[in-house]
Amino acid sequence: ENMIPDKIDYVFKVVVIGDSAVGKSQILSRFTKNEFFFDSKSTIGVEFQTRTVTINGKIIKAQIWDTAGQERYRAVTSAYYRGALGAVVVYDITKRQSFDHVARWVEELRAHADSSIRIILIGNKSDLVDMRAVSAEDAVEFAEDQGLFFSEASALNGDNVDTAFFRLLQEIYGAVS
Ligand code: GDP
Ligand code: MG
Repeated sequence: ENMIPDKIDYVFKVVVIGDSAVGKSQILSRFTKNEFFFDSKSTIGVEFQTRTVTINGKIIKAQIWDTAGQERYRAVTSAYYRGALGAVVVYDITKRQSFDHVARWVEELRAHADSSIRIILIGNKSDLVDMRAVSAEDAVEFAEDQGLFFSEASALNGDNVDTAFFRLLQEIYGAVS
């Protein structure tokens, strides 16, 4: 089918941050390609991926940046955050430490990103509920305290991934339109 692409109304840069191995790259490939790889090496080195969506009748290209293995504290440079309208902060619900570090990642955003950046916190790997180490209540409390949206999600089975991204993109759209 020969479709003439519609014109893009907006490009939204979104950055994904969080500790190593929480599933950032897999969340990204689930949202942009509806794919999941148990061996995530295939996504290393990719700077960003895109998905074009329609929000309130507008065509929006989400340009979503991946840290590609630079998750050491302070290793992510300010260039990464430059121009970002949204951020996805990811932790792993089975790794307490990855949740304890979320406050640092949010601090990094406040230091380097635009003050109007919209942030969503994702507790990934919700499919591994038997190995849970972070309660949803703790995360909700933190998110409310910091004024972030929050959702648990699973890149593996896709639960809540689209919902979380659409919520963020909708929020950004509301701010720029
Ligand atoms: P990153 O370092 O934050 O980019 O993490 P990756 O996306 O590379 O994922 C790290 C590991 O967690 C890989 O072995 C993935 O297969 C696994 N993983 C990622 N997301 C999920 C998920 O939602 N559920 C489960 N069970 N494993 C996941
Ligand atoms: Mg990665």
